Amino acid sequence: MPIRADHLWLYPIDWTQLSRAIRFDRAGGRCEHCRRPHGERVFHLGDGVWWDRRDVRWRDGRGRRVRLPRRDLLNDGRWTRVVLACAHLNHDPTDSMGQNLAALCQRCHMLHDGPEHRRRRWLNRHYARALGDLFNGPYPKLGAEWIVPIGGLSLLAA
Ligand SMILES: [Zn+2]
Repeated sequence: MPIRADHLWLYPIDWTQLSRAIRFDRAGGRCEHCRRPHGERVFHLGDGVWWDRRDVRWRDGRGRRVRLPRRDLLNDGRWTRVVLACAHLNHDPTDSMGQNLAALCQRCHMLHDGPEHRRRRWLNRHYARALGDLFNGPYPKLGAEWIVPIGGLSLLAA
C-alpha cells in the first residue's frame, strides 16, 4: 500500500530496509495472516480460500488448511498476483517496533485496515462539516436546523 505523501515523514528513515526485513527475512516472503506467497499468481475463490501451489493444499483466509471447497471452481475462481506490504498493526506509522509490524498481502492488509479507514472517513466527514459550521453557518438542508447562528457563531438552540 503506498504511503501517503503527508505521512511520509512519520516513517523511519530506514523504512525500506525495515519493510524488506519484515517481509522477506522474518515472514519468508509469505503473508503472515494467510500465508500467500509474494510475487506469485494465486488462484482463489474470493472469500479468502486459495490454492497453495507450493504445499499442494487449499487454505482459508487465515492460512489454515481446508478441504477442497464444494463450489464451482471455474466460475468462482479468480487469479490474483500477491504483493506483500509491511503493515503497522496499530495503524501508527511512528511505532515501527517489530511486534507492531506484519507482512500482509493486499487482501489481508485491506481487511486489517478496513475499520481504521472507515473511522478516518467518518472523522474527515465530521471534521469538514464542523469547519462548515464554524465558517459558513448551519446546515438546515442536512437536518441540522437545531443549530442556530447567534452573532456570527453557531450555538445549540435551547
Ligand atoms: Zn494475506
